[in-house]
Amino acid sequence: MKIGVLALQGAFREHKIMLESLGCIVSEVRLPKHLEGLDGIVFPGGESTTIGKLMVHYGFLEALREYHAKGGAIFATCAGAILLATEIVGSDQPRLGLLEMSVKRNAFGRQVDSFETPLEVKGLETPFPALFIRAPILESVGEGVEVLAEYDHQIVLARKGRLLASSFHPELTNDPRLHRYFLEQVVSAG
Ligand code: GLN
Repeated sequence: MKIGVLALQGAFREHKIMLESLGCIVSEVRLPKHLEGLDGIVFPGGESTTIGKLMVHYGFLEALREYHAKGGAIFATCAGAILLATEIVGSDQPRLGLLEMSVKRNAFGRQVDSFETPLEVKGLETPFPALFIRAPILESVGEGVEVLAEYDHQIVLARKGRLLASSFHPELTNDPRLHRYFLEQVVSAG
């Protein structure tokens, strides 16, 4: 399977390593033309305002909307999830707006409030070690968006069709189950 990692800014190397360990051919996506031929793409965590500005600069907003419309899957983590949302509380920063949800940035406090917790995830038999770093919450989701995990009554993992969004960082753990879920269930979804 050919998977790209959006490599404009943020923690994309760890995603690359994890996807390669699952047998994918992984490429770094720095320009819209790099989207060609990809089955899926991962948006890493980082700084959503910076990534958003770079997306505008390189013409990624249109290119990624088209890529998704033509069947491409997206796994968006943390800052990446913010970029996928239709609504960002209190911010007019650039975003793709592909997944109908409202996100609140830095909703668990500042950097010192980063934490790891065992998280119950729908479809996984044992809890997932979820690492939250200045994470957003997915405050509310639109119709047809499936909530896959909640932490403290807040949505932290959601999926609709070929879009998967997490508040936390599955690439910074040794647990490949969410990446595998993306490859096996999301990439192939209609
Ligand atoms: N706080 C960052 C933002 O709002 C996201 C943090 C992260 O990706 N770890 O863009």
